[in-house]
Amino acid sequence: MAYDSDNIFAKILRGEIPCDRVAENDQALAFNDISPQAPVHILVIPKGAYVSSDDFYSTAEPAEISGFHALVAQVARDAGLVESGYRLIANHGADGGQEVFHFHMHVMGGQPMGPMVVRR
Ligand code: 5GP
Repeated sequence: MAYDSDNIFAKILRGEIPCDRVAENDQALAFNDISPQAPVHILVIPKGAYVSSDDFYSTAEPAEISGFHALVAQVARDAGLVESGYRLIANHGADGGQEVFHFHMHVMGGQPMGPMVVRR
């Protein structure tokens, strides 16, 4: 799938629509999910244009990947989740339930997060 520069997270990165910014570094931006599924629900997105986890991990520069993960760890730490625990989720494609096609990691916590998956 080609990257669509009109996706909602691309618009957030360009400042065309607002976000509730949490943190930022050279490689990534973190902001609160608009429809939180837990007391803490932060999205971390790379600043580069990557459709999905497959695209990001196979084509991003090592510095982008390490900077992205540094911000994931930082926002979880700054939200006070290290002791209580948290969950990281990256949905890829249809079976993963991906809705926004700019790669992102969900950082979720502040409550027990329950079973890892719903078995069907
Ligand atoms: P996905 O299913 O692609 O992994 O998750 C997309 C996430 O983006 C959802 O949790 C959804 O609530 C969030 N989201 C969708 N549109 C917006 C938006 O305009 N702003 C913010 N902050 N989050 C959004």
